[in-house]
Amino acid sequence: MPGQDRIRSVELSSVVLPLSTPISDAKVLTGRQRPMTEVVLLFAEIRTEQGLEGIGFSYSKRGGGPAQYAHAKEVADLLIGEDPSDIPRLYERLLWAGASVGRSGLATQALAALDISLWDLKAKRAGLPLAKLLGPYRDSVRTYNTSGGFLNAPLEEVTRNAVRSLEAGIGGIKIKVGHPDPAVDRARVTAVREAIGEDAPLMVDANQQWDRPTALRMGRWLEQFDLVWIEEPLDAYDVEGHRQLADALDTPIATGEMLASVAEHVRLIDARACDIIQPDAPRVGGITQFLRLATLADHAGLQLAPHFAMEIHLHLAAAYPREPWVEHFDWLDPLFEERLETRDGRMLVPDRPGLGITLSQRCRALTRESVVLGRS
Ligand SMILES: [Mg+2]
Repeated sequence: MPGQDRIRSVELSSVVLPLSTPISDAKVLTGRQRPMTEVVLLFAEIRTEQGLEGIGFSYSKRGGGPAQYAHAKEVADLLIGEDPSDIPRLYERLLWAGASVGRSGLATQALAALDISLWDLKAKRAGLPLAKLLGPYRDSVRTYNTSGGFLNAPLEEVTRNAVRSLEAGIGGIKIKVGHPDPAVDRARVTAVREAIGEDAPLMVDANQQWDRPTALRMGRWLEQFDLVWIEEPLDAYDVEGHRQLADALDTPIATGEMLASVAEHVRLIDARACDIIQPDAPRVGGITQFLRLATLADHAGLQLAPHFAMEIHLHLAAAYPREPWVEHFDWLDPLFEERLETRDGRMLVPDRPGLGITLSQRCRALTRESVVLGRS
C-alpha cells in the first residue's frame, strides 16, 4: 500500500525541568499543595522504517511523573511493527493494554505522549504543520500570558510583568486569585486593571479554591472589570456549581484543565456548566481524545482556551471553529530549539512540519531516564 510504513522504535525519556522560582497558586495558599519547583515531562520519539520521526510529550506537575514514564514503558512495545498512520486503532490497543488501571488520568496521560508523537509523525509525512493536517480556521491564535501573575509574585512585579507582556505582543493577561484573604485578590485585580488599561483583555484564575458562596460573591464583585473569563472558580468536579455560577454571572466561566478524560469533559459540556472549555491534550490522553471533545464542545457552542503546552495547543486551537485563546507559557522553552512567534496579540502557527519542535541539548541534559524499545 502506498505510504505504508512501520514503526521501528519508540524512545521514551523522563525529563525533569527545574523552574527558576518556586510557583504558588491558590492551592498552595490554602495548604493543599506545595509550591511547584519543577515540571516532569515524558517524551516519546517514534521512528519508522522509512526514517521518519515523531515527537510527543506529556507532563506532570508535583507528582506522577515517574509513574507516567513507567506506564508508557510497559505498553509502548505494542507499537513496534505497526503502521504509524493508524492512530485511533493504535491508541485503542495501548488503552486496553493498561485498562485495568483506568481509561483516564495517569494511565492515558502516559499514552498521550505516544499519541501526540504519532500525530506529529503523520503531519511530517504529509509535509504539513499539524494545524494544516487537521484543517485550520486561522493561521494565528489570540494569546494571553499567565506566568507573570502567580500569587508568589509581589503585586508590583505582577503589574510590571503584565505591562511588559502586552508590550511584547502577547494579547491578554491572566492573574491568579483565590487568596484566602479576598482583600488581597481585590487589590491585585484593581491594580492590574489600572496598569494595563480598560481595553486590554484580562482574566483571573482561582485554581478551584473558592466555595460556591465565595465564588458568587467574588464573581459579582468582578463584573465591573469586564473580564474575558473567571477560571476554575470552584472544584474541577463541581459541575452543578459551575452551571449555577455561569447562569448567575455575565462574566464567562472557564474550566476543564484538571479533567483527565473525554468522559469527564462530557459531563461539563452536557450540563453547559461553563462558557469556555479548557482541555489539556496531554491530560486527557492526547490529540485523538482532544479532537473528540473539541467536536462536542463546538457542537454545544462553547469557546475554547486549552490549558498549558502551547507547543501542542497552538495547532489544535487553530483548528477549532470558534475564535479561541492559547496560553503563553515560556516554561518549556529550554527544552526546544524553536521559539513560537507572537505578534499583535496573537501566536503564529509555525510553518514547520508537524508540531514544529526539536529537542534541545538542554533537554537531553535534563533527561533523568530513557529507554529505546524496538530496533534503534
Ligand atoms: Mg488555570
